[in-house]
Formats: sequence, C-alpha cells, structure tokens
Amino acid sequence: MKGGDPEYLPFALPDIGPEEIQEVIAALESGWITTGPRVGRFESDFAALLGTGVHAVAVNSATAGLHLALEAYGIGAGNEVITTTHTFTATADVIRYAGATPVLVDIDLDSYCISPSAIAKRISPRTKAIIPVHFGGHPCDMDSVCACARNAGIAVVEDAAHALPTRHRGRLIGTLESAATVFSFYATKAITTGEGGMLVTGDAELARRARIMSLHGIDRGTYLRHRSDHPSWYYEIVTAGYKYNMTDISAAIGIQQIRKVQRFHARRCAIAEQYDRDLANLPLVLPPRPANAADHAWHLYVVRLRDDLRVNRDEVISKLHEKGIGCSVHYVPLHQQPFWRDRYGLDPTEYPNSQKLYERGISLPIYTRMTDADQERVISALKACL
Ligand SMILES: *Cc1c(COP(=O)(O)O)cnc(C)c1O
Repeated sequence: MKGGDPEYLPFALPDIGPEEIQEVIAALESGWITTGPRVGRFESDFAALLGTGVHAVAVNSATAGLHLALEAYGIGAGNEVITTTHTFTATADVIRYAGATPVLVDIDLDSYCISPSAIAKRISPRTKAIIPVHFGGHPCDMDSVCACARNAGIAVVEDAAHALPTRHRGRLIGTLESAATVFSFYATKAITTGEGGMLVTGDAELARRARIMSLHGIDRGTYLRHRSDHPSWYYEIVTAGYKYNMTDISAAIGIQQIRKVQRFHARRCAIAEQYDRDLANLPLVLPPRPANAADHAWHLYVVRLRDDLRVNRDEVISKLHEKGIGCSVHYVPLHQQPFWRDRYGLDPTEYPNSQKLYERGISLPIYTRMTDADQERVISALKACL
C-alpha cells in the first residue's frame, strides 16, 4: 500500500460485540467451561430459530457434524457419496472419514451449486448419499437433488456452512426433508463461535446417534433414565465414538451471535444489493440469485470476469490488494487439489463450469462490519481495475 492510503480492508472479519464478551466471561466464571448448560441453550435457541420439529446437536466444527451425519446414516466402506467439486475440502474429507468413496461432480452456472443432471449420471448401486453445498449462501435446486435421492433410495446431507439463513422456495435450509443439515460457525461464517458447527435433523433417532458419537460413544440418557439404582458417576460406552463436542465457552459466543442473525443477514443483503447496482455496468457476470434475493444468505459475493475481458483474475486481485482491498477465490476446486486430483484421477475437462468459476471468479468483501464507505472503496477500486 502507498502512504496515505486508508487502512487495508480485510476480506472478512467476525462481528463480536460486548454481549459475546460478557457471556464468555460469565461462562468462564461459572465453573462450567466444557459441554454444559450454555451448549444446551445454544442448541435449543438454534432449533427454535429454524422452527418446530428440529433437533440440533452442537459440535466443535461443521466438519465434525458432517462426519457424524454420515456415520449416523450408516455410510461406510464400499459406499459412494456424491458431492460437488466446487467446495471446501471438508465436504469431501468426511466421506473418507466414513470409509466411503467421494464422487465429485460439476456445478451449474446459474447457481454455482451442484448440478442435479450431473448427479443423476453418477448414481450407481453403491451410492448411499448426496452432499449438496449451498454455495455462497445460494440455495441448491433441492427439488431436483431430493428427487434424485428419492429415486435412488439414498440420503441427502446438506452442507449448509454458508446457508444461515438461506431459503429454498420460502423454506429455511435446515427444515427440508434431508436426513441432516450442517451449519458452520467458523470465524468467517454468518455467525461464529470461534470454531463450531450444528447438526440439525428432523429425525430424533439420527440426532440421538450423532449426540452419542460426538462424545466418545457415551450414553447417559436412555440407560440411566430408567435405572435409579445407578449412581451419578455411572455411564456406559455403547460404541466407539469421537471427541466432537462443543464447549460452553464457544456456546457462550453462539448464544449472543444467534440473537443477531436477522440483523446480520439484512446487512449482508444490503451490501449485495449495493454491489448489484454499482457493478451492473462493468464487464462482470454478477452472482446468480434466487427469485427472491433475500432467500440468499450472501455469505459470499462472487463476481466473474466476462469472457471477452482480457485482464485475468490474478491481475485484478493483485491490483485490488495494492489498493488496500482483500479479496479471495472460492474455491480452488477439489479436482485441482493435488490430493483429490491424484488419488481419484480427476480431469479438469470433466468440470467445465467449476473450472470457469475458478479461473474467472473473485470473491469481494461482504460482511457486517464493513461500512458504506468501505464498500464504496471496493467499488471504485474495481472500476479503476477494469
Ligand atoms: C467452512 C466450511 C466447511 C467446514 O466448516 P468447519 O466448521 O470449519 O468445519 C465445510 N464446508 C464448507 C462449504 C465450508 O465453507
């Protein structure tokens, strides 16, 4: 940056207020810092936010939640799970954790989400589940994804890391008929707990299994409730589980963040609308949007350089960086990542849409702590670059 420039505008920042800080202090002073009353409250507040009939299990990451969902559904060795190449590596990692084989397919350019026709082509007798990702907060075509799953008799587990709150045909993600839906509270997501995630499901038995597996396979509830002759120190290991529980320190942040969800979302929508207006005349393809723009969570705002534009994505990003603006690329697709590419022999020509988004896409800053003046800087810098 040159001298005299305003401060660097980061690509993303968490929005933590005095309420979160006070709640964390209260948790620390309470003497109960691991999974306890605040996790319970965070789970019930989160379930209430989505609606009735939702079971919520708090975990220490969305990655953990996705793994637990696959485990609870019984996915294992010999099974295949279909997901998108255009995602963060965690979406595919969990398929391997479960011992199954990831099958990566292309996206559609009108949503940047998994292509239902590409799913249909890859369903085999071994396919056990589909993991759609609501990319950037745009809802996947869940009618088609769920129809594929229903026809094949397999499960849908939604990666909703970007999708708080996203609606599909007016219904909140997390309340559709999928086996489970998993949200992330990583630092850059719509709400944060530092690290954390929430598995939600309408299936009480799946929730019960995920909860037991999230803490070493310990079952206190069902067994002890009916046996008053056991002392309070008694518990049973009913299976080999994991260590995926959320702490009350994290839940303390979450309890206060969740109260701000609507305000945060309104701010993200306003930023997206402003970008839409001010970038409309530039040689850019603006982000796809659902019929009702407020159904989009606007976790990301990704513009694509038009094909006829000579300048490339790296040049634009480095010019914006010189002007003090942080941008990013979502994502380096999995078929371009050495591990996935080499392990599964993936060929970029099979993923033309993902490849196009990767080569020409730029994620602009969009977060609640940005001011109107910050956004004006992004817009005028982008105009200068193009
Ligand atoms: C952030 C993210 C995850 C992982 O979330 P964690 O809470 O960090 O485990 C998974 N999928 C997508 C698409 C993400 O963006």
